[in-house]
Amino acid sequence: GWPAVFDRASGSTMYTEDGREYLDFFSGAGALNYGHNHQDLLEPLLDYLRSGSITHSMDMHTPAKRKFLETFRDVILEPRGLDYKVMFPGPTGTNTVEAALKLARKVTGRQHVLSFTNAFHGMTLGALAVTGNSMKRQGAGVALTNSSKIPYDDYFDGETTDFHWLERVLADSGSGVDLPAAVIVETVQGEGGLNAARASWLRALSDLCKKHDILLIVDDVQAGCGRTGTFFSFEEAGIVPDIVCLSKSISGYGLPMALTLFRRELDVWGPGEHNGTFRGSNPAFVTATAALKRFWSDRENFEQQIAVRANQLHEGLARVAATTEGAVVRGRGLLAGVAFPDPSTAEKIAAASFERGLLVETSGPESEVLKLMPALTISTEDLARGLDILMEAVDASVGERELTAVS
Ligand code: PMP
Repeated sequence: GWPAVFDRASGSTMYTEDGREYLDFFSGAGALNYGHNHQDLLEPLLDYLRSGSITHSMDMHTPAKRKFLETFRDVILEPRGLDYKVMFPGPTGTNTVEAALKLARKVTGRQHVLSFTNAFHGMTLGALAVTGNSMKRQGAGVALTNSSKIPYDDYFDGETTDFHWLERVLADSGSGVDLPAAVIVETVQGEGGLNAARASWLRALSDLCKKHDILLIVDDVQAGCGRTGTFFSFEEAGIVPDIVCLSKSISGYGLPMALTLFRRELDVWGPGEHNGTFRGSNPAFVTATAALKRFWSDRENFEQQIAVRANQLHEGLARVAATTEGAVVRGRGLLAGVAFPDPSTAEKIAAASFERGLLVETSGPESEVLKLMPALTISTEDLARGLDILMEAVDASVGERELTAVS
């Protein structure tokens, strides 16, 4: 709802048609992890487009696709000991989630899928069925079936033992809960309020899935591609999901692209069984390859850079949270924010930030969480400047709240 027409962008800055300048802490909802129009991605893209090479190729073989697959194997999969098959499911996040769900159902021959409270997995019917948000679910216009919700980490504020219910019903043949094909999880719930699962909780979930022969799908559409500090958000937990969904920043340049990764043994697709016209966008392969080489070849260095920025961000968020009683910092890495007890606070701060030249969004079922997603490549100075603007916006919003209370 930002009242502006955005015209140009560079790095972490966006410019409107009428010459206003905004620091971008929204980053295309995670599609612009390396900022806008990064020169090291733009140059190979322009060279490719001018060279007369193939733009659209569906599932035909092209050198650009080969280079991407080789680079993804060499830079991402092999160094992490992962042996996934790579599928191009169509260019959006919801496309990769649909492919993952279909594959899990086909492999296991089961229909049911478990997902978590406050999950967000996309807007097509399969993905929507495993999404929590009631407003979005109503938009389906039909019954959303074949899935049940289970509590995410800390849903009961530590009052009940994690997985208590799930362990019991899976072990009880009289529970009436069908054995699911899969469990789908986000390690950090980007849209659902920046709830971050603990590594130990993810490990326990992975163990439980293995024990009952349930496939574990990690939806890394938003938390992946370095957002939480490592390329895959589940690396910290040391788990290896059966299926992984990637999209948003995989092309690195904001070009639509998605991947579904899965264990080799799970490849039961028949030829053309899950197809789609836009699965071979070669310009996206070109920028994706350039992004992997540019940022992830020297993995330690880039992870270190993200960690430093994440510390800076979390320090700023702690200052914001300290202004309001009951406010808490949420999230992990550069996918973080502040949850406020009054659901109107975050929206007010986001609006006041916009007035001062900073783009931030809100998240959570009541939009009660102020959500910050600066580019992973943001400079220390830009991050500091954005956090200063945010503090001014917070002061203005808190002041407004106090005035409202007095009047
Ligand atoms: N999964 C997750 C975790 C997401 O955050 C999103 C988008 N916010 C999606 C899936 C859907 O992606 P898209 O909007 O590209 O369909």
